[in-house]
Amino acid sequence: MARYVTHLESAIDGTQLPANQLATMHEGRPLWVRYDLDAVGKALTKDMLREREPTMWRYRELLPVGTEHFEVTLGEGMSPLLACPRLGKKFGLSHLWIKDESQLPTGSFKSRGLAMAITMAKHFGITRVALPTAGNAGGAAAAYAARAGMECYVFMPDDTPAINAYECAAAGAHVYGVNGLITDCGRLVREGKEVMGWFDLSTLKEPYRIEGKKTMGLELAEQFSWKLPDVILYPTGGGTGLIGMWKAFNELRAMGWLESQQMPRMVAVQSDGCCPIVRAFDAGERFAKPFENAATMASGIRVPAAVGDFMILDALRESSGRAVAVDENHITEWLRLAMSSEGIAVCPEAAACIGAIETLTSDGWIKPDERVVIFNTGAAQKYTEAIKIEFPQLDINESIDWNVFA
Ligand SMILES: *Cc1c(COP(=O)(O)O)cnc(C)c1O
Repeated sequence: MARYVTHLESAIDGTQLPANQLATMHEGRPLWVRYDLDAVGKALTKDMLREREPTMWRYRELLPVGTEHFEVTLGEGMSPLLACPRLGKKFGLSHLWIKDESQLPTGSFKSRGLAMAITMAKHFGITRVALPTAGNAGGAAAAYAARAGMECYVFMPDDTPAINAYECAAAGAHVYGVNGLITDCGRLVREGKEVMGWFDLSTLKEPYRIEGKKTMGLELAEQFSWKLPDVILYPTGGGTGLIGMWKAFNELRAMGWLESQQMPRMVAVQSDGCCPIVRAFDAGERFAKPFENAATMASGIRVPAAVGDFMILDALRESSGRAVAVDENHITEWLRLAMSSEGIAVCPEAAACIGAIETLTSDGWIKPDERVVIFNTGAAQKYTEAIKIEFPQLDINESIDWNVFA
């Protein structure tokens, strides 16, 4: 039984910290989990992976749990990588895929991060957790906390999709609506910490959510037989998914597992109603200014300020990628286009990525024969309020006059 984690490392200044105890941040900025990749490479082979269950835990040597089995799990299956020929054709692309994270527990990729964060919190003896959420992270935290027998407090903007509050409450979490944005919710979690004694599970304020989300990148590499695609579009809020995938690719490269040295160009997609990362990218800055009056129906990317802003921006630049803001007013249109072309239940956040494809193919940044992947980070079914805008009330019919079709 082994764990391959060597230490934690400050993302802002490289300070090393021990990994055998609970950790939060360093100088107010996130920590990386570092591994002995040589030892991982000796312990794990691609052939061994073929024998393993199709879940995120198949990469356990590259995760904080190592080969010790103490995970809190709801069965996080590998998400399908779906070829999208019809949708691709609309933009002149011959190789477009959607990696469909909507099929994970609680209907979003947030389950990967929270399965890992709660696993490690439990490992270190935590019994009460709290987090601010734009929606799906709260649902996932509540579910995994219930699974782990922990108490969970969730703070969400009061106009978050209703299903997110229901799923938290049903899982036994204490849910609070907040008149404000996720940043205001984060302040409440900080303020309550001393009296409530909870552990703060906020995105990037503890080091393990990234490691869970990293499995999206590991899976993608394996599904593509270790030849990474040319372009990855990711709807970016706090950015853990994008940062985690970039970390995964770099770890695989360091282990010599990638078939090509060519790394994907990472694209952070935001709505023009909340695009702090796009502004910072365009201005050539490493840190993003808080975005005023953030508003988008893609609630998962309504994050006006991200503590890992520099980690997102570094990944975009290292990968020769970009940050793209799309027109908020067209999100439902793209959602409908993707769902009607391919039958995949894309969330508004992923619909924004369809908009980015439109921009990047028409300005020639994505070439027709490039291999392009969009992440569908959540299930459309969780956004009934947003989708209602586009799909009004049904007519009530008791009988139908079939002659009108004749
Ligand atoms: C949280 C969330 C995002 C943003 O993810 P980050 O990794 O925090 O940037 C995108 N889409 C959905 C559906 C989400 O719930």
